[in-house]
Amino acid sequence: MDEIDFREWSERAATWSANYLETLSDRPVKAQVTPGDIACQINTSPPESAESMEKIFSDFEEIIPNGMTHWQHPRFFAYFQGNAAPACMIAEQLAGTLAAQCMLWQTSPAATELEVKMVDWLRQAFDLPKAFQGTLQESASAATLCATLVMRERALNWAGNRFGLSGQKQVRIYASSQTHSSIDKAMWIAGIGQDNLVKIPTGDSLGIDVETLRSAIKQDRENGFLPAGIVICFGGTSIGAIDNVEAVCEVAKEENLYTHLDAAWAGSAMICPEFRNLWTGVENVDSVVINPHKWLGVPQECSAHFIKEPELLIKTLSIQPEYLKTYNVEGIYDFSQWSIQLGRRFRALKVWFLLRAYGLEGLRTRIRNHVVWAQKLAARINEQPDFEISTKPVLSLFSFRYKPGDDRELNELNLQLVDAINKDGRIYLTQTNHEGKIVIRFVAGQFNMAEEDADVAFEVIVNIARNGLS
Ligand code: PLP
Repeated sequence: MDEIDFREWSERAATWSANYLETLSDRPVKAQVTPGDIACQINTSPPESAESMEKIFSDFEEIIPNGMTHWQHPRFFAYFQGNAAPACMIAEQLAGTLAAQCMLWQTSPAATELEVKMVDWLRQAFDLPKAFQGTLQESASAATLCATLVMRERALNWAGNRFGLSGQKQVRIYASSQTHSSIDKAMWIAGIGQDNLVKIPTGDSLGIDVETLRSAIKQDRENGFLPAGIVICFGGTSIGAIDNVEAVCEVAKEENLYTHLDAAWAGSAMICPEFRNLWTGVENVDSVVINPHKWLGVPQECSAHFIKEPELLIKTLSIQPEYLKTYNVEGIYDFSQWSIQLGRRFRALKVWFLLRAYGLEGLRTRIRNHVVWAQKLAARINEQPDFEISTKPVLSLFSFRYKPGDDRELNELNLQLVDAINKDGRIYLTQTNHEGKIVIRFVAGQFNMAEEDADVAFEVIVNIARNGLS
């Protein structure tokens, strides 16, 4: 493609994108396709000769959008939102054009220095103490894996990387039963193993039972295990569970354990001072992950990983063959030494565009609205005699069940309800299992959501439950 083509097709793509966003709310939220519907439209082998951009673009228009679940749809209430604020989409286009590989300062000085600044802007936005530095990881899963490796190496006095885990004391890590599956996966990848992730039950508040945590650690020490760290749950995916950060940090201090706080979703709300009481004691945590790529509005992939002692992370992950060394400069950051992957995208640009284009006040207004609208919807559903609120709103997440009082089996009935709602297409919801019961999650958090979207959700949920199930 020559230069003129690039200009023409970039403009076509920009026009398509603007039209897509303007008409998005007319589409069904969840893709209305069955497995294989898209694959059967794609050639089985790559072309030997170049095809025209006209043909490629028209295939894109015809095949792809209708096979997508629309994450930027204002009535996306499933999982946790993966927002992409329009200003960030533009930043992504620019980052894609620069196409820098940002592994070292010398390979991307502007990207590296902007990343240092953006992590600090975010730190201030969340009101974390100055003691936290950090980096933008690709995902919360990656940040948690990094923290898990630090826990392991710190406890083993950096013998794990050198000698492997065979013959070492068995490392133990603690977390509540409400933590995200990325914690389990981190244990597998770090070679610690699922059985050495000690899942502590939660108390009435759905936060970790701190006394059980304390005694589990003591008992493990007596049994010859090596306690290494605690992962604190701050807004669990299922129903939004939150641990008592201050109390868990006290236990960690008593036991000299490393703490990592998973605030992948709920952390974004900490830009609002009135919610910060939820994480009282956060200044005592060793590392924190918050996903601006969820609620805040930055597109995938962008996880802010704040760390009090980056030296521990660097000691765990830094590897510098000659070809990665930089000579004759000082005071630089090579962020590939802070993460699992070597090559990395220019992530900071989209954070810069977001924070400047909307301002913290603009972002706070959105989050506050989501919380209020979720609470109002929960109250409306609670007034219906044939529904129950299963778990109360935590910020903008609550769960409910349809409970009509006839002889239909409730787990099956609520799975049918989610399915019928998602086939209807006006809203998108997902279910979870809470204490053995299938409940339906509602999360408000889409960047362009309006209060009327919550009203539509109410109508759809109630009408389909009462009239649309067999
Ligand atoms: N932690 C929590 C609480 C989550 O909800 C999620 C994803 O939804 C993750 C971690 C994993 O996030 P990521 O997709 O960035 O790895």
